[in-house]
Amino acid sequence: MPKRPIAIALIIWYNICMNNTNDNTPYITRIVEDFLVRTRAKLLAHATRLDNGCLIVQPTSARGGYGRVTIGSRTYAAHRAAWELFVGPIPDGLYVLHRCDTPNCINWNGCLFLGDNSANVQDCISKGRFNPRRGERHPRAILTDAQVIEIRRLSKECGLSNAEIARRFNISATAISKIVGNRTRKTV
Ligand SMILES: [Zn+2]
Repeated sequence: MPKRPIAIALIIWYNICMNNTNDNTPYITRIVEDFLVRTRAKLLAHATRLDNGCLIVQPTSARGGYGRVTIGSRTYAAHRAAWELFVGPIPDGLYVLHRCDTPNCINWNGCLFLGDNSANVQDCISKGRFNPRRGERHPRAILTDAQVIEIRRLSKECGLSNAEIARRFNISATAISKIVGNRTRKTV
């Protein structure tokens, strides 16, 4: 997940937000405003407002179900882009999280909020579509494809350790390591 501002123009906009402007402001402001108008419109072009207030973009992959948006030559998580484009900078160490539990929602005015790392990890875990049943011993259990996808998501997107994932799924950390490292279940 990119942690830096989505464009140089935004850095300038941040400075304007923080009243840290200089004498070039009229010229720079016009560039930044153009950028913001264009990029906001691009983000909203494919967004749909639901009855519950969520503003949904099409998720572009199964990984976490987040929407993506391409700005310049780079692709960003749509909810992060929405926060930066409509609200302002995401402070260091904070994450953009969802109250609505809908990863592809970009409703900055109600659904999105800033949270720290532990809130982010908790949020990330809770979004899993698969909840392993605890307390059962399945030493030779064959994981379903959905479980394999969830294991990789917990590792790569939520940052859980192999040992922590192993506890959740009741299988060995070695098996988790092989799945995460694509040494087994390569077709999933
Ligand atoms: Zn929402």
